[in-house]
Amino acid sequence: MTNLTTLNEKYKKLHPMDRMTQLFKDFDAQKILVTSSFGVTSPMVLHLVQQAHPQHPIHFIDTAYHFDETLAYKERLAQLFGLHIVDVKPNEHKNNYSQKRELWRTNPDICCKINKVQPLQRIKGNYDIWVSGLMKSQSDHRKNLDIFQQKGNIIKFHPIIDMDEAEAFLYMQVYQIPSHPLAEQGYGSIGCRHCTKQGACRLGRWASLGKTECGLHL
Ligand code: SF4
Repeated sequence: MTNLTTLNEKYKKLHPMDRMTQLFKDFDAQKILVTSSFGVTSPMVLHLVQQAHPQHPIHFIDTAYHFDETLAYKERLAQLFGLHIVDVKPNEHKNNYSQKRELWRTNPDICCKINKVQPLQRIKGNYDIWVSGLMKSQSDHRKNLDIFQQKGNIIKFHPIIDMDEAEAFLYMQVYQIPSHPLAEQGYGSIGCRHCTKQGACRLGRWASLGKTECGLHL
């Protein structure tokens, strides 16, 4: 049984880059799942993974509702970092249903479940550790998270949880990583096009729907 308290104490003292390097020493790479939405601050974690374990698979949940700019950004980062991206798609029938019924308007929780949560659920069982780029500053739920966090049968690993967005942007500037094209247009956080508006941090996500998370990280 992995002792999360010991791991958190050990990793807290490390810089995010050293945390990622250490992760690939402490755990079997084949058991480490990396996901990315190719959003505003995603490149930092992608860059860290690429440094620590080049060509490690990056899973992208392709809901079919992403902005064209996000898909173009994904391709650009793939070329820049030499990423090995694996697209994870929802069940076709359910995805069509969500489109026909415009579920993002009528029941966004079910829409996220069909198009995001369930597709990831299908592959999660193959892994012990799940790497994601959550930061405490992003939401009330996230501010209580630690670097390692048990979530059901998988351990979440948040290497940049104690950074804020300004620090992530500074990192991107230092390493000359291009920003998401929509970030320059005032989008602070970017998900599916139906549920993303301009706004600081995550204010433009599911704006006016009373929803703050898609459910992947709850
Ligand atoms: S973010 Fe919106 S469009 Fe995307 S899966 Fe969730 S409800 Fe549907």
